[in-house]
Amino acid sequence: MTKVPELFGSMVFGDAAMKERLPKDTYKALKKTIEDGKDLDIGVANVVANAMKNWAIEHGVTHFTHWFQPMTGTTAEKHDSFISPSPDGKVIMEFSGKELIKGEPDASSFPSGGLRATFEARGYTAWDPTSYAFIKDGILCIPTAFCSYGGEALDKKTPLLRSMETLNDQALRILRLFGNTKAKRVLTTVGPEQEYFLIDREMYEKRRDLKYCNRTLFGAKPPKGQEMDDHYFGSIRPRVSAFMKELDEELWKLGVLAKTKHNEVAPAQHELAPIFTTTNIATDHNQLTMEVMRRVAYKHGLACLLHEKPFAGVNGSGKHNNWSISTDTGENLLNPTDDPHSNLQFLLFLCAVIKGVDEYQDLMRVSVASAGNDHRLGANEAPPAIISMFLGDELTSVLESIETDSDYIDQAKCDMEMGVHVLPNFQKDTTDRNRTSPFAFTGNKFEFRMLGSSLSISGPNVVLNTVVAEELKQFADELERGDCFTQDVLNLIKKTVKEHKRIIFNGNNYSDEWVAEAERRGLLNLKSTADCMPYFIHAKNVKLFTEHHIFTEAEMHSRYEIILENYCKTLNIEALTMLQMSKKSIIPAVSAYTKELADAAISKKQIGADTSAEERLAKELSAQLSCFLKAVDALDLALLGAKQYPEIGECAKYYRESVFTAMQELRGISDTMETFVSKKIWPWPTYGDLLFSV
Ligand code: ADP
Ligand code: MG
Repeated sequence: MTKVPELFGSMVFGDAAMKERLPKDTYKALKKTIEDGKDLDIGVANVVANAMKNWAIEHGVTHFTHWFQPMTGTTAEKHDSFISPSPDGKVIMEFSGKELIKGEPDASSFPSGGLRATFEARGYTAWDPTSYAFIKDGILCIPTAFCSYGGEALDKKTPLLRSMETLNDQALRILRLFGNTKAKRVLTTVGPEQEYFLIDREMYEKRRDLKYCNRTLFGAKPPKGQEMDDHYFGSIRPRVSAFMKELDEELWKLGVLAKTKHNEVAPAQHELAPIFTTTNIATDHNQLTMEVMRRVAYKHGLACLLHEKPFAGVNGSGKHNNWSISTDTGENLLNPTDDPHSNLQFLLFLCAVIKGVDEYQDLMRVSVASAGNDHRLGANEAPPAIISMFLGDELTSVLESIETDSDYIDQAKCDMEMGVHVLPNFQKDTTDRNRTSPFAFTGNKFEFRMLGSSLSISGPNVVLNTVVAEELKQFADELERGDCFTQDVLNLIKKTVKEHKRIIFNGNNYSDEWVAEAERRGLLNLKSTADCMPYFIHAKNVKLFTEHHIFTEAEMHSRYEIILENYCKTLNIEALTMLQMSKKSIIPAVSAYTKELADAAISKKQIGADTSAEERLAKELSAQLSCFLKAVDALDLALLGAKQYPEIGECAKYYRESVFTAMQELRGISDTMETFVSKKIWPWPTYGDLLFSV
């Protein structure tokens, strides 16, 4: 194997490749565009495109694509070759600056939520030079933003870049007030931890629910699930280990900082965490990571499941979005340092987060809403649907002391005695871990834990960046007006803590007491996608996003439509898949098995043997099958009912209340029948087969 440092980034046209291959002036001009957000000159673009093409061709590449992130939440690409006819009837390989910076894919088949009628099919992709071009599967991929003919954002990258801009502007204002003149840019950074399941490919192919819906719609609990806690951090089995090794290598080639890998709580569940980077690149890299995971799994005879809840009864998969704010000079603005009590700049940034999360709980919830994630939130394996934040004892008491003008007593930063002499004593962290909080402060960053495993991390970071920018803006406005800076900052902190401390909760977020307590505190508890989406377009949120130029009102409505439409379509496909599996497979199987039992009983009677077991089983199964057929009818009917709701919000509520309930009912009966019939006749691999298949 090539050494890792040589392998790393070998498929990326990154800074090193640019420096090596571009004339000095071009390199400088491009850097200026990347660092200061300056427009790119077409002359420069031509030179860059040519160098990029030559680099790609040396790596055996023949095609390029504008790689973008439409509202489907996945990535899209259309491949064009470099060939261009030459007068001698042959071809030359060409790639112009114009082709690099702008593309025109037909946009009519991507979701636009009414932003673009099909007759205005034109869409544009525009190069995002802050994210490097790379080679994937022999194709030169150019990260781009995607917008409509009228300039509306049709993708997930554009609003993210806008949100980073606004946060930069407002955070710099605060830094200047604190006398920091050095920092030129403020960026948010993200390290997303990615959970996933791996199962045997052959088993996967036999399950229509997994193929159509990415999750199982039927399946009785196996005798063993995750109750022994023996999978978490357990030793990694050879097939999985081979997969992980190749995954790391493929990601490293793409410049993805894949760092940690381990087994997760549920059988067949694993996690990969990268080292954090700027939010824009982290988002691109996370999309790539998910794609490479699927591809490498396929190669290893495995299927990688990224659904939030592929199996009922065992833990689902999430994505922890570790988020922080730092300057281009390397200062992490959420680092409390050794003495948080007197670090006013840190406390002010912290207060911006506290106020933002409290005032925009609804948006935080909306940002993680999807049909798949609805199965996790509040299911005692993931945070509840209630947004709150964990700060830990030390920071909480620092804030309390400021709020109440009382002395702050430093929590003893005591050494941890391990009680074993060969082990070094290490300093105890001043904050313990809290695994149950949806939004936890973890030392020098926040960990937003509500994201579903398949979600693009763009949306949640757009919300975090914008909400915090808004609070920083309010703080900066107020402080710029004031005349006694230190006292003004203290007052601001005090006021914020007083007004927004209800959002801080350091206890167990999985407990019933918290649900009741949160209600007393007036916190929102928006249980499903259908419940939370209407909040997205509330006046206060439209004001926030339009004022910060993240979304226009039309763009917000389009997103509202797209997310709810996606929700309804997902449930519709799931319901149709259940009906098909029921009618085509489950009913025939149970009926055939019942007949087998009845035939056995008849034969046994002829020799005078005891037939009570067969008779009882056959009767019980027959009764269950009748119930099952009724549940099939009920689901059929429920699906028909959806047609009565042309308004998408109403329709989503209906799917949640009627269709989803009918699906649960149907599944329950099938799962019981499954436990009574012979393994031979069950139409597909069971939970036990799937979860212990690798
Ligand atoms: P913990 O032990 O608290 O889980 P780790 O150091 O293991 O912290 O980091 C977990 C994830 O958080 C990793 O992906 C890591 O890169 C990321 N992370 C660490 N620091 C930051 C930061 N300043 N900004 C964003 N993400 C960060
Ligand atoms: Mg974590």
